[in-house]
Parts: sequence; C-alpha cells; structure tokens
Amino acid sequence: MTEVAYVVEYDGGYDDRSEVVFARNPMEARRLGANELDAEEESCTFRRAPEFDGCASHDELRQAQLDAGWWFTCGYCERHVAVGDTYFAGENEDEEYEFEPVLWGDVYCNGWHAGADAVDHVVRRIRSWEGAEAAIERFPGAVIERVNPNTFHHERRNELVATVEFRVPPEFQFVFWWQVGDNSLTMSALAQQEWSGYRHWLKEHRERSEQA
Ligand SMILES: [Zn+2]
Repeated sequence: MTEVAYVVEYDGGYDDRSEVVFARNPMEARRLGANELDAEEESCTFRRAPEFDGCASHDELRQAQLDAGWWFTCGYCERHVAVGDTYFAGENEDEEYEFEPVLWGDVYCNGWHAGADAVDHVVRRIRSWEGAEAAIERFPGAVIERVNPNTFHHERRNELVATVEFRVPPEFQFVFWWQVGDNSLTMSALAQQEWSGYRHWLKEHRERSEQA
C-alpha cells in the first residue's frame, strides 16, 4: 500500500503542535508523527489528510499547509508566520505589513529573514571549522568529539565563541571542554589525572619525533 498523508496532533495544553506525515497506515502515522513532534504516542491524535496526499517535496507540503491556513515559526526570528497575517515594523513599529512567507527548507517571514538565516548558518559552520582546527593545533593528538559554534564566552558574556569537546591520548577516556582562544580548560579531579597523562604522552611523543 502506498503512503498517504495524515495530520498528527499533540495536545500539550499550552503547547499544541501538529505535523503532516506520510504513512502506510494510521498506526505508522501516529508513530512517525509522535517522533516528529517529540511527544509520546499516547498524547497524539491523528486524522487522514487527503488534501496533502499529492505533495511531492517538503517545500510543496509547506506551501500547501500555508495555503490551508497553517502557521509556522520563522526559521530566523521565531515569529508566527501565516498567510494573510500582519505584523508591525518600521522605526516606531507602527507600520503594518502582510507576511509573504518564504520557503527555503524552513518557513521564513520574508526573503530577508531567509537570507539572514543562511548567513548565520555559514558563520556557524566557519566558527565550528576554525574551532576544530585551533583545537587540533593546540592539543596535538586530540580527537574532536563535537564543536558547538554558539556558546557564550565564559568571561566576555556577550561574545559568541566555539566550544570544542575532545578526548586526548593515550587514554581517550574523559571529554575536555575548551573555548577557542582560552588559556585554560575546565575539568574534574579525575580528568586532571588523565590530563597529566596526556602532557606526559605529548612530551615523549615530541622527544621521539625530534630523535627521528
Ligand atoms: Zn522572521
């Protein structure tokens, strides 16, 4: 049997959410929907939604949802966006505009917000990449676990920097956190022991490569 569209709704009191999923039967729809909505299956209801059956792509589905009166949160400013809704902007926030939602993977208030989000993505990617590079250079042999490009600097609190999570040889047991550019690392007492092991490993490693 082919997949058809269902609307799955999560009733969370103040936090109602719905999503359209494509499934072979109602049980599958509820399972997929609960997963999409990050909710328990038992708290979700579903209905068949033939109006979305023909949607072949994500953008096509979003457009059909907008046309059917659904609202979304803008992928950039998180404002509610729906066709025909208005918002206030301008110098005194007194000029009324009608939303012209733009689809670009996510739904955005307007083209400007879609563009600004794309720029943000690039900035985060560059920050992640630079962070990983800096950590590899500073902690030779380290294995990068994760880079979070958007963390507030622990002292200059309005500055966003990358935090790198990594493990070190020879044990690779604990995860260490380093904010790019910092002169210190924070670690537990147990991890401190491993850190001295790493310093020792590094020293031996350097001596060996100097002899070679
Ligand atoms: Zn927006």
